[in-house]
Amino acid sequence: MEIESICVHGARDAYNLSGAVSVPIYQSATFVHPGMGQSTGFDYSRVQNPTRASLEQAVARLEEGSDALAFSSGMAAIAALMELFAPGDHIIASDDLYGGTIRLFDNISRKNGLVFDYANTGDLHAVAARLTPRTKAVFVETPTNPLLRVTDIAALSAELAGRDILLIVDNTFLTPYFMRPLALGADIVMHSGTKYLGGHNDTLAGFLITSRSDIAEKLRMIYKTVGSCLSPFDSFLLIRGLKTLALRMEKSQENAMRLAGWLTTHPKVKIVYYPGLPSHPDYAVTRKQASGFGAMISFEVDGEDTARELLSKTKIILYAESLGGVESLITYPVLQTHADIPAPVREARGINQRLLRISVGIENIKDLLDDLKQALA
Ligand SMILES: *Cc1c(COP(=O)(O)O)cnc(C)c1O
Repeated sequence: MEIESICVHGARDAYNLSGAVSVPIYQSATFVHPGMGQSTGFDYSRVQNPTRASLEQAVARLEEGSDALAFSSGMAAIAALMELFAPGDHIIASDDLYGGTIRLFDNISRKNGLVFDYANTGDLHAVAARLTPRTKAVFVETPTNPLLRVTDIAALSAELAGRDILLIVDNTFLTPYFMRPLALGADIVMHSGTKYLGGHNDTLAGFLITSRSDIAEKLRMIYKTVGSCLSPFDSFLLIRGLKTLALRMEKSQENAMRLAGWLTTHPKVKIVYYPGLPSHPDYAVTRKQASGFGAMISFEVDGEDTARELLSKTKIILYAESLGGVESLITYPVLQTHADIPAPVREARGINQRLLRISVGIENIKDLLDDLKQALA
């Protein structure tokens, strides 16, 4: 089945006897056992639930994995993922990660004895130079947030081959519609399903997907134990969101291309970060490993005042955190997603008071351009 069809049909409910076209919300905490020592496959909803299992089946198929686990948020997924590791284990992570991921690593995982090294994972030598005998994983976000730097997943996977090191990829920005990291050599894919997979800015969700049965087994054990599972209702909303993933990704990307191009011509805009611009340093590697560039754009304006004014003037593009929904959102990374990163570290990475990020939605491009025009006037 092609990916657009998996979006629509991938969650089809194997447990449903009524013929319902839409997967029902199995709002049940527990399930009747048919007899002594017998199970329908469902015992208790922390462990398995038919609505969630249908969603997990769809996400596993989209990412070309053998198992997908649906969590109550992206952060819940990463927190559970960290339970794969033991004190003393060393993890190399991209140095331009989602702020919440850095907060988790530095404040919680580190306290639990894990050791982190941040590197530009787009630079194989930088990763290789940090490998130690205790290195157990490389955690990559690509494209990164907010500067949209790209890691060559196949090349990194080849670099790590033959060692007992997990390659983990946060695929939130491109989604399986544009890129499938497991097929490129990753061991685990992570998603904030809150973003494009859900797609409507109405539900939090997270996913871990793998095609390795040994990892799936460990993750299932962690999952049923820590209990950060996605509810039946939120699973239903995710299934509904996924049905239009292909259409939304195409439309948002088309809008993002137009908007990024336009921004490069504006006198108050100094730098535009969008991997779909041939001038972006990672344009070529993106074309090699993905079928699209996504719809996230970051840009630097000529001063903090311009940034502040723009945020207060946009009307259609909403000043709000998050991304990946049908509504276009604009954020100010310094005060929002990246507020917890020490200022000197942030500045050195180019996340300054002049940087803005837009998650381009599916509105008419004319309205989006008009909105930015008046806000930047
Ligand atoms: C939002 C986000 C997360 C965290 O997900 P939540 O669903 O907000 O918990 C992780 N990684 C990336 C790239 C994100 O954008």
